Amino acid sequence: MKITPRKNELAAIVEILEAAKSFEDAARAVYKRAAEVLAMRDTWAFVPEGMGVAVGPYGSRKEAEEVASRISTSYRIVPLSPPGRLEGNLDGAEWSGYCCSNSCTHARFMHLMDGTSYGKCSDKKCSCGGWRERK
Ligand SMILES: [Zn+2]
Ligand SMILES: [Zn+2]
Repeated sequence: MKITPRKNELAAIVEILEAAKSFEDAARAVYKRAAEVLAMRDTWAFVPEGMGVAVGPYGSRKEAEEVASRISTSYRIVPLSPPGRLEGNLDGAEWSGYCCSNSCTHARFMHLMDGTSYGKCSDKKCSCGGWRERK
């Protein structure tokens, strides 16, 4: 699986390394954070014809196609829905695409339209002051 780290993903790891008290603590925290990062990524798999299995995840559709074409001439590429994004949509998340206004961590689409931009969060219990993009 080929993954190019994004700026905010690297920053999350650097933050852990700078705060770590030991290599073992750092390794454990980095491993957990990397799993969270990957759970937010769109990935792809392929299903070779005649095989009852999906092979993946791959970091891009192209990567999945490259491997699939080496195994079979007939296959189907399927996008995988990232589990972290589903959980983030239900519980909020601290990633780009989620609001950072007050304690709101809800997804952009959870915010009501205010003219042509996103306004307050539609969650009635949320103290969101209006959509703010997380950097
Ligand atoms: Zn909210
Ligand atoms: Zn909000």
